[in-house]
Amino acid sequence: MKTPVIDVHLHASSISGWGRQWPFVESFAATSGFYETVDANGVMKPELVEALLRRCGIDYALLLPELSPLTTYYVENEWVFEFCKHSTRFLPCANINPHLEHDLGGLVRRYIAEHGLRAIKLAPTYQHFYPNDSRLYPLYAVAEECGLPVHIHTGTSIFRQAKIKYGYPLLLDDIAVDFPRLKLVAVHSGRRFWYDEAFFLGEQHENVYLEIAGLPPKKLPEYFPKFKTLTHKFIFGSDWPAMPSLEGNIAQVRALPIPPEDQDAILGGTAARLLGIGTETFTDQDERPRRQSHGESAVGGRSAGTTSS
Ligand SMILES: [Zn+2]
Repeated sequence: MKTPVIDVHLHASSISGWGRQWPFVESFAATSGFYETVDANGVMKPELVEALLRRCGIDYALLLPELSPLTTYYVENEWVFEFCKHSTRFLPCANINPHLEHDLGGLVRRYIAEHGLRAIKLAPTYQHFYPNDSRLYPLYAVAEECGLPVHIHTGTSIFRQAKIKYGYPLLLDDIAVDFPRLKLVAVHSGRRFWYDEAFFLGEQHENVYLEIAGLPPKKLPEYFPKFKTLTHKFIFGSDWPAMPSLEGNIAQVRALPIPPEDQDAILGGTAARLLGIGTETFTDQDERPRRQSHGESAVGGRSAGTTSS
């Protein structure tokens, strides 16, 4: 049985959605495969994204919207939810901006019921709030109750309007303590100068996981000196399309000096548990579903199933 490969950090957006950040994304577009996924007008197409994932050996991808028009870019949750309906390979994620909503818990329940939501992404550095702000607690309570992972940006950003203080990893400590069953994912693992803090949280809290989007995987043993002791808490994310190469990052994980089963855990085994994907739901090497499976989401949403390819 093959462990699925899961990218938990893939930005779905047409060229127009990137707005002011398009020049940054464009600098990677030739190598990242971005142009393979859009039509002649720069509109992203589900069947083209699916083909890219298939080519790169990715069984599932969490597709991220983002509601940060002044700092990064703007892609609505509903656009991503609709996009995800085209393939069981796509898992819908919601970006929730606490400055735009009052009833955060109710919103999460609605997204689960209506769209089979699989995870929540919070972007404190881009939307300027502290993730341990009590305004967010109803959201965490519902996510904990429903088994939905919450992914929170930690670490630095190069975007001009970002405020780095909101990305301090230890802000997640409050949340991990107050919601001990909440699956909490430290996106970027404290990138740049907070790796130690993020790693400590992963060691300290059973419910904290470390996501590696935007980091060159070959550098993990350098960034985290005790990396080998915590491989079961690291999960693969790419940050595509703002990165050089999807298949290159996967190859770097496969080349890490750790046992193959630990590489599998990073590339998808651990994320499969977090996202409620049955370990039997995977694509065969020849890209046909090996068997029909109906891995139900932990939140009772849509079946992860096998890919439709
Ligand atoms: Zn990202």
